[in-house]
Amino acid sequence: MLIIKDIYNLHTYLKAYRDKGYSIGYVPTMGALHDGHGSLIEKSRNDNQKTIISIFINEKQFNDAQDFEAYPRNKGDDYNFCEKHNVDIIFEPSAGEIYPKEYKSIQNSHFKNILCDQYRPGHFDGVVTVLNRLFSIIESDKVYFGEKDFQQLKIVENLIKENFSNLKLVPVSTVRSAEGIALSSRNSKLSKKQMTDFLSFQKEVIQFIGNLDKKINLIEANKQAEEFIKSYEKFDYFEFRNASNLSLEGSLVEARLFYAIYKSGIRLIDNLEI
Ligand code: AMP
Repeated sequence: MLIIKDIYNLHTYLKAYRDKGYSIGYVPTMGALHDGHGSLIEKSRNDNQKTIISIFINEKQFNDAQDFEAYPRNKGDDYNFCEKHNVDIIFEPSAGEIYPKEYKSIQNSHFKNILCDQYRPGHFDGVVTVLNRLFSIIESDKVYFGEKDFQQLKIVENLIKENFSNLKLVPVSTVRSAEGIALSSRNSKLSKKQMTDFLSFQKEVIQFIGNLDKKINLIEANKQAEEFIKSYEKFDYFEFRNASNLSLEGSLVEARLFYAIYKSGIRLIDNLEI
């Protein structure tokens, strides 16, 4: 397994792969790797001859400097994790390597002012800016994204359609713990007590969804969602949206429940199929 920090070296190895006709799968991450990332890597390994993962905590997508500072980092473990999953290349660039002085940010124009975009202004501009750069550097055949970050997945779908017509996006289902919690790098920040609270919250959410009449429309479903969440300590959103276009139209069977809640200052997001 190679750990590469600069674009020049990366291109040397990628060119050697291409010269041999190998297909390349790419998994972008911010590190603190867990089995959710593992599932993306495994999918890429099944589909391609070579798999590259990037580990880059992109400051541009944090709208809160403290959140950036507090984001979990565990380099050594990440290297072992990738080794175990037979990753071929870890690309771990510095911010200077990704953003040369003249590099211009780009703006996201899709799925605006809803869900995470409403509560983290500028977040998706940072996401599309870094991905635009990483996709151009790596030029893989396929790229793997988790449904855990569903709005991001939809935005990336548009970025690829507009700017990277040769790249194929592969969505991967959310990997969950036995109790139904979506694995997340941020979970490692939860204390035992916070985790227990979060588990019972998730259990209640699953029960709430299970008890709904699946034939109701999203307006009605969201009235009930509002009622369910109103006493919760702190949340950004908790609502059903149409899974194909993130609108509030259609019936519950076509929807997912999207939420962003806080547990002692830690922001946790998920989306659940009905
Ligand atoms: P992150 O390092 O959190 O930016 O995530 C990198 C990629 O892994 C993104 O495409 C995420 O959607 C995906 N991912 C994160 N958690 C999970 C999970 N529990 N199941 C599947 N994919 C995930």
